[in-house]
Amino acid sequence: MSMHHDIGLSHALKLDADDPLAGYREQFHHPVINGEEVVYLCGNSLGLQPKKASAYVQQELDDWARFGVEGHFHARHPWMPYHEYLTAHMANVVGAKPIEVVVMNSLTVNLHLLMVSFYRPTSERYKIIIEHDAFPSDRYAVASQAAFHGFDPRDAILTWEPKPGAHTLETEDLEQLLQTHQGEVACLLIGGVNYYTGQSFDLGEIARLGHRYGAVVGIDLAHGAGNIMPNLHENEIDFAAWCTYKYLNSGPGGISGVFVHEKYAHSTELPRFTGWWGHNKETRFYMRDEFDPIPGAEGWQLSNPPILPLASLRASLEIFEEAGMPALRQKSIQLTGYLEYLLDQLSHERIEIITPKDPQQRGCQLSIMVRDSDKKLFDDLMASGVVVDWREPDVIRVAPAPLYNSFQDAWKFVDRLNHLIA
Ligand SMILES: *Cc1c(COP(=O)(O)O)cnc(C)c1O
Repeated sequence: MSMHHDIGLSHALKLDADDPLAGYREQFHHPVINGEEVVYLCGNSLGLQPKKASAYVQQELDDWARFGVEGHFHARHPWMPYHEYLTAHMANVVGAKPIEVVVMNSLTVNLHLLMVSFYRPTSERYKIIIEHDAFPSDRYAVASQAAFHGFDPRDAILTWEPKPGAHTLETEDLEQLLQTHQGEVACLLIGGVNYYTGQSFDLGEIARLGHRYGAVVGIDLAHGAGNIMPNLHENEIDFAAWCTYKYLNSGPGGISGVFVHEKYAHSTELPRFTGWWGHNKETRFYMRDEFDPIPGAEGWQLSNPPILPLASLRASLEIFEEAGMPALRQKSIQLTGYLEYLLDQLSHERIEIITPKDPQQRGCQLSIMVRDSDKKLFDDLMASGVVVDWREPDVIRVAPAPLYNSFQDAWKFVDRLNHLIA
């Protein structure tokens, strides 16, 4: 190993000592295996549990026990407006106005609901652009939407591809695709941060391009929310959705977030699937009225939301609000840069980072391709107390989350990887 062991570690410890956000690590439960806290670098898949989440969930169980149905009005945090307690903090996480954001359902469900409104194909303009290596659920969703409207997904789905031999995508190739299919593209659905490569995109540029060619622009922020600063409002994204169990630490199967740009807040033209929870709050319980949508994203709600998942998400969003996305992003750039630096120091010929080098083109995740490797390397890493994730055939995704990961975590991961591939 070219890295001097002790000097390397003391440098990491120094960086932690200088980190103003270091204290947040203690606000999360870190899994313990064989009596030792693991090095958890898997917030891209499931974020850690905030220690206060259980008190937040327990409070709702207690109030349910105490009040029964009356908890809708008399719980310490009444359930009727419970989702509203999360709106402002969630809006800050994704760079939106409160009227543009709601938490409801889960991610793929929301992608479908939003496409009902925003994917409105005609016989000429019916194609959907997704990015290369889009998450499977997104591909299934857009393919089934196209098929639902009577189009053949093999014809209707276009893929923004990397240049031959490259892993990551270039905006000029998206523009080329839009040009080639001028007049045919109805909608873009792009992962704000690609789950596989960790590449993040210039969302403002994607929106400008999509709009210039007459398409509606949607973003799947599953790997972006709580990671990058997507500025959805200013970037003029039409719609977006994300899950909250990854970087937003809401717990397994946690509730999803939705963004609908303010310009549609009062639109009566968009078709949508409706339910009573999207109806005007003043008259919701009169039960007989014609549907009268709540202005903004809330008007897309169908059902009264599950309070327990909202409670755990509320616990986490309060921490995000306190730490602030700008500070988290600043640490993230430094922390991921440090991880990259350590991996570069190894200069092992079997290792290649396929995530872009430019911090503006990535979030916290690095995707490391390990040549001539198999899943055994990953199993060995896990056995050594490091939790990362593995994507066939040969990619390890490592995601130091600025909220609860330390520079020492990055150091330990690289140290163990080095021993295992040596
Ligand atoms: C994690 C993830 C999903 C998961 O979808 P669910 O509906 O929450 O199960 C979908 N799309 C992307 C891009 C993801 O990263």
